[in-house]
Amino acid sequence: MDLTSGGGGASEQNAIVEGPSSEMITGAAAERSSAAVAPLSRYESQKRRDWNTFLQYLKNHKPPLALGRCSGAHVIEFMKYLDQFGKTKVHVSGCAYFGHPNPPAPCSCPLKQAWGSLDALVGRLRAAYEETGGKPESNPFGARAVRIYLREVKEGQAKARGIPYEKKKRKRPALTTVTVVNASSSSSVVVADDGGGSSTSDAGGAVTY
Ligand SMILES: [Zn+2]
Repeated sequence: MDLTSGGGGASEQNAIVEGPSSEMITGAAAERSSAAVAPLSRYESQKRRDWNTFLQYLKNHKPPLALGRCSGAHVIEFMKYLDQFGKTKVHVSGCAYFGHPNPPAPCSCPLKQAWGSLDALVGRLRAAYEETGGKPESNPFGARAVRIYLREVKEGQAKARGIPYEKKKRKRPALTTVTVVNASSSSSVVVADDGGGSSTSDAGGAVTY
């Protein structure tokens, strides 16, 4: 309901995600070790991007936060920060479309990071942390609090979006950009008709009232 957590310095932090953190990657790759330099896989390059984003986040953190002092709470904070860049509509409990997988009209509920994205992100960062010398036992991305938070997000979004996440393992489609197309094409404005509204008595499917 009361999602009024508009963080203050949001615009300044915007730069984190957009920042050309790929420079580090290309720099490392340019260091030519003529032996078989395979191009980075999609996963590997995404992992590096995520890691750089996280390091940037720590750098801009107030007060500054060293990687070694990161706890699960900070990881959760990071995920919440990322929500502002999310593209997944998560209905609040008061919304008429709460629990509707395909709402017939737009609503003002917030966009957030989808649970699946966060879950995958944490997995990549967890690996990156250990690849950069972090000890598994102190890995903040493996913290219990993070697991609990992810589970809560998963259950909350499943309810809010009417999409049960199945427990069984299955292959996820590699691309998750499908929704973007939909969103931009269906941007026709739905004008709320005030006035003679009550005359629409089509005994159609809309049973909600
Ligand atoms: Zn809604």
